[in-house]
Amino acid sequence: MNFADLGLSDELLKAVVAAGYTEPTPIQAQAIPQVHMMKDLIAIAQTGTGKTASFVLPMIDILASGRRRARMPRSLILEPTRELAQQVAENFEKYGVHHDLKMALLIGGVQMGDQVKALDDGVDVLIATPGRLMDLFERGKILLTGCELLVIDEADRMLDMGFIPDIEFICEKLPTTRQTLLFSATMPGPIKKLADRFLTNPKYIEVARPASANLNIAQHKVFVSSRNKRDVLRQLLRTDDVTSALIFANRKTTVREINKSLQRDGFSSGEIHGDMDQSSRIAELDRFKSGTVNILVASDVAARGLDIKGVSHVFNFDTPWHPDDYVHRIGRTGRAGAKGRAFTLVTPEDAEAIANVEKLTGTVIPVFALDGAGEEAPRPEREPAPRPKREPAPRAEKAPKPARKAEPRAPDRPRPESVQDRRPEPRRASTAQPATAAQEEESTEGWNGPVPGFLARPAG
Ligand code: AMP
Repeated sequence: MNFADLGLSDELLKAVVAAGYTEPTPIQAQAIPQVHMMKDLIAIAQTGTGKTASFVLPMIDILASGRRRARMPRSLILEPTRELAQQVAENFEKYGVHHDLKMALLIGGVQMGDQVKALDDGVDVLIATPGRLMDLFERGKILLTGCELLVIDEADRMLDMGFIPDIEFICEKLPTTRQTLLFSATMPGPIKKLADRFLTNPKYIEVARPASANLNIAQHKVFVSSRNKRDVLRQLLRTDDVTSALIFANRKTTVREINKSLQRDGFSSGEIHGDMDQSSRIAELDRFKSGTVNILVASDVAARGLDIKGVSHVFNFDTPWHPDDYVHRIGRTGRAGAKGRAFTLVTPEDAEAIANVEKLTGTVIPVFALDGAGEEAPRPEREPAPRPKREPAPRAEKAPKPARKAEPRAPDRPRPESVQDRRPEPRRASTAQPATAAQEEESTEGWNGPVPGFLARPAG
């Protein structure tokens, strides 16, 4: 199968050749003809499968005929984060070079003026995060009645971030005769309900998870005590032929702390998380992409879906609470046929989380033995760790081996926090209150991931 078989126009075929693609990925082969036929679509696919081009390419052909009108975008793509929205916009620029299409990007964290001006001039494609879109809609700056093609991308992430009520609201404002494409890595109940309500006779496509199927990524878990995590990270960074690395942490505060501590130790590192404004995030990403720094410490929300070439290593400083995040994180390496390595630091408290990851990916991640990790004998993984009620009870841990270098400050173990402080960014159901634009920029609470089960339950 090649791109010409998919019925794309000659201009698009030229752009695809220029992008260096020789054949469509499975999601592209299946989705592009459906989108061309104006069918509704549910696609179960993750980033890394080529899913963006699977909707951007046929959309460009569909939008090639027709006329723009002021404040009435002809199509709308909803993305959960600013970075993803930006990436989709870059895809439009790349594949749409031979077309006269106008695009506007509505994301939080940047001035509204230019965005409003672009809308006033008329756009073919509006790429937006729900918060900013709602904001402008409520100010009367956008009319959605001319929008005949809607893409809801990363729907499960939208759910995690509390955007489902916004999406329902937006869907109700669009013409009922529109075409709707819904992309999601998983199909939890609220997303299924959304699809049942707003899609018409959709074609269903599912492609393999790229990360779990990606044999180019060598995955390892390292059993470690909480207090030795930073030492172990440094040791791996120094000894595992790291050319460039993404390091993920579950909390924004941890992202900042790791970055500072690495810089103190002479590593060339940067950070990206949801508390940073958009221009700082872009600047930090650019520093990483250009090689000015070769380590980027990241939160899940900020880094989700980022397409960065040539990342040799992914380190999960914290085992992710939600197994899908594991797949997304390690999928940042081993891209485009390159080899990659992924290490996950697993403390005794992470027993349940790593078991969930292994269940989801259908693999038992091999143990990487490292001197000084402080947890040589793995605890039984299938047994959940004891669940703390309010504060984690102090666990009797094996006496750690002396650290190679004492940390000058900042305790290795997180400071005891109040229950309020510990509350993660809520994984809201579709009945939750609509997220505000401010929530879209991530709450300032310390978490960037979904709620682990035991924290969501009332204590007691
Ligand atoms: P996505 O899943 O949309 O995030 O895409 C992941 C990566 O795959 C991006 O770097 C794309 O440029 C790349 N890509 C998309 N389609 C193809 C293709 N047909 N062949 C090779 N690479 C592709």
